[in-house]
Amino acid sequence: MNMLEIKNLHARVEEKEILKGLNLTIKAGEVHAIMGPNGSGKSTLSKVLAGHPAYEVTEGTVNYEVNFMMKNLLELAPDERAKEGIFLAFQYPIEVPGVSNFTFLHTAFNSVLQHQGSEPMPEGEFREFLVQKLKLVSMKPEYLDRPVNTGFSGGEKKKNEILQMAVLSPRLALLDETDSGLDIDALRVVSDGVNKLRRKDNAIVMVTHYQRLLDYIKPDYVHVLLNGKIVETGDSSLALKLEDKGYDWLIN
Ligand code: ADP
Ligand code: MG
Ligand code: MG
Repeated sequence: MNMLEIKNLHARVEEKEILKGLNLTIKAGEVHAIMGPNGSGKSTLSKVLAGHPAYEVTEGTVNYEVNFMMKNLLELAPDERAKEGIFLAFQYPIEVPGVSNFTFLHTAFNSVLQHQGSEPMPEGEFREFLVQKLKLVSMKPEYLDRPVNTGFSGGEKKKNEILQMAVLSPRLALLDETDSGLDIDALRVVSDGVNKLRRKDNAIVMVTHYQRLLDYIKPDYVHVLLNGKIVETGDSSLALKLEDKGYDWLIN
């Protein structure tokens, strides 16, 4: 059974059509890499899937498996999508000055528990649960008590996105350029973290500009998104070919 089926997706922002008939099918257990030139619509795709209100779907369908039934994802509000296990790690993680990282994670975690009909996890227990998750991304506990992303370095923000992913344990994780701006050590930490979060029952979609990331996280499929459509799909050898030849050979 497919986890996500995107068919002929058209979407626009500010009256400008960005996605122009995109097709993509994802099954549980798979890792997909999406590559493509700047401005081709990669972040737009992630935001449309997460339900960002600025992006309007004008054509096509997106179905997502919930309890063995395909549901129209586009009818779900953004928070419902999150509760159904869709997670977006932002290309540019936002700073939330007034809210501690701990409170943010605890609130998000408990709202998923509540959605599943479980009791919320008390603060003390959650803090213990977080210890293991912090290790996964080599973050010190002191980051929990700082405001979300505020004053974090680029690398720390990206690690914090993976921490959120580790805590929420999404079924479908969309990682938008989580590797960009990372030095080689941070890249290793982030990719080790993602690799440890790979499971048979979840799927990961990684947007990346760099073949380098795919040395660490082996994708099952590599797609090229060009001018609002997926124009080529292959295995990791496609990423090597793109590194060598660029995108020109795909533009006709
Ligand atoms: P990518 O992530 O592949 O670099 P994006 O999805 O961010 O591309 O952007 C695709 C196109 O949509 C770009 O031309 C960008 O300028 C435009 N775009 C994205 N978001 C907005 C917005 N909020 N308002 C206007 N144009 C936008
Ligand atoms: Mg870009
Ligand atoms: Mg982008």
